[in-house]
Amino acid sequence: DPRINGIKTTIRVVPDFPKPGIMFQDITPLFLEPKAFKDSVDIFIERYQGKNISVVAGIEARGFIFGPSIALAIGAKFVPLRKPKKLPGEVISEEYILEYGRDCLEMHVGAVEPGERALVVDDLIATGGTLCAAMNLLERVGAEVVECACVIELPDLKGRERLNGKPLYVLVEAH
Ligand code: IMP
Repeated sequence: DPRINGIKTTIRVVPDFPKPGIMFQDITPLFLEPKAFKDSVDIFIERYQGKNISVVAGIEARGFIFGPSIALAIGAKFVPLRKPKKLPGEVISEEYILEYGRDCLEMHVGAVEPGERALVVDDLIATGGTLCAAMNLLERVGAEVVECACVIELPDLKGRERLNGKPLYVLVEAH
């Protein structure tokens, strides 16, 4: 797809952020280029249009930048998967292990019903722990995760292997 290269060139690598030794992939320059930003959303929409997806689940925070546009275009609902203690209603929670410590994602009870077909969206997959927790939330309420979609994959971290065989679609690989 000729649009991919235009997306790829907007991604900026910031060394030693948020701590020494980390090469942070910064996607905020993508949002400054309306053509590349639209291309990224359009590619996802083209892929998921007509696939009977009823819910797009976006992961806080950068999954919120892509997920709603995809949901609106394909006629699906949008469900935010949030960091702890942000959602006001009854939630289910899924803890996951980070390099140092733990984190947690929460989803409102009742937002997704058994049998729904879900797409999980985030900006980037590193170790895969975040997407794995997101999929667990959806599967615990009886939804079927059709695919996970990210803008960037860090393939060296082999996060794809943690997704229990679930398909992962990415626009750009970064090394
Ligand atoms: P994982 O759980 O190790 O796959 O990490 C993925 C999560 O951490 C996603 O929600 C990303 O937004 C965030 N993340 C990890 N590394 C980066 C990065 O280099 N740039 C932007 N986000 C990152």
